[in-house]
Parts: sequence; C-alpha cells; structure tokens
Amino acid sequence: MESNSAARLKAELIEHNVSGSFDAGNFALLTKKPRLIDTLANQLLETHFPASLQNNIADELGFDIQHTLSQRDPKFCQMVLRAYNYQCAICGFNMRHDNAPIALEAAHIRWKQHQGPCEVPNGLALCAIHHKAFDRGSIGLDENMRIVISEAVNGTSAVVQQLFWDYAEKVITLPQSKSNYPNEKFIEWHQTEVFKKA
Ligand SMILES: [Zn+2]
Repeated sequence: MESNSAARLKAELIEHNVSGSFDAGNFALLTKKPRLIDTLANQLLETHFPASLQNNIADELGFDIQHTLSQRDPKFCQMVLRAYNYQCAICGFNMRHDNAPIALEAAHIRWKQHQGPCEVPNGLALCAIHHKAFDRGSIGLDENMRIVISEAVNGTSAVVQQLFWDYAEKVITLPQSKSNYPNEKFIEWHQTEVFKKA
C-alpha cells in the first residue's frame, strides 16, 4: 500500500489541479520533433500502467503508441492459469480452440509497474473482459475474496448484468492450494490504488 504521505500528496495534486510543463529548451525540441511526444507518452504508459489499459489511455489522450512488447514473464501466465485450472476466477470462462485457451489472461493484482511481483499470489486468471474491468477499477475484491462492483459500472444489456452485477459479493473461484490464494497485501493495494468504489 502507498504510504499515507504519498496518498495525501496525490490528493493535494488533484485538488489543486497541479499540472507540469516543459522548460523552453525541451519545449522547442518537442515542437521540432513531434514524434518524440508519442515516444515519451509510450514510455510513460509502459512504466506506469498495465498493458490492458495502455491502448485505452493512449486513445483517450490522442497518442499514437506502438507496443514494444514489454517484458512479460511467460512463466507467470502459465503458473497463474494453471493454479486457476485454466478458467476465469470470476465467471469460469474457459473457451479453448483445440487445446489453446482463448481470451484467458493472467492479471497482476498489484501492477507490475508498481512493484507487483510476477508470482501466483499476485495473480488472477481472468477472461479478457474481467481483466480489463479489474485493471480499470470497475471491479475489485474485498478481504474475503468477494467481488465488488464499482458504482460507476453501467450498461443496459443483459450481458452486462450477467457479467458484472450477477457476480457482486460472490467469492471468486480460488486455486486448489492455499499457498496460491491471492495475497491480502496485493488485494489491499488494488482496493486502495485501482478500485473505484464510486
Ligand atoms: Zn470472466
């Protein structure tokens, strides 16, 4: 979890609408080489946000990013999917194309970009939709591994109801071995830093 002083600082920055800017020399450089802006945006996104969110943020802010296929640990994905029996911990989605799982991903609970380790207790097997919603803070977990849904979630289709609200307060499907359960300190980080209650 972030220290109190860091959390306070962040709240103050938001409250006072603090923004930054470049000094004259760097500003001139960026004006002369506009491609540099996308490169910098790319680096900032890869350093601070999980891959599932990078494209969305870039689209919202109008940056053109090219993925440099960030260093994912292939073992992490395999270990997490195996621990969760190759199905989404929330909805149980487990579609395969022959033997290959489709749209099933290993999510980091505490983001790798925020010192989250590539270990099973920091992972969750999630389908692509629940992964994206988890990283965006639309869904979270409480200390009893129950699913919590952000009040910001909306959508009128029956599928949204089935994929989100129907799982509210349900316990996720946990791994066989307790040593693989999500670690509460990572869950706490996600609750504080990512999940958006309202
Ligand atoms: Zn799912």
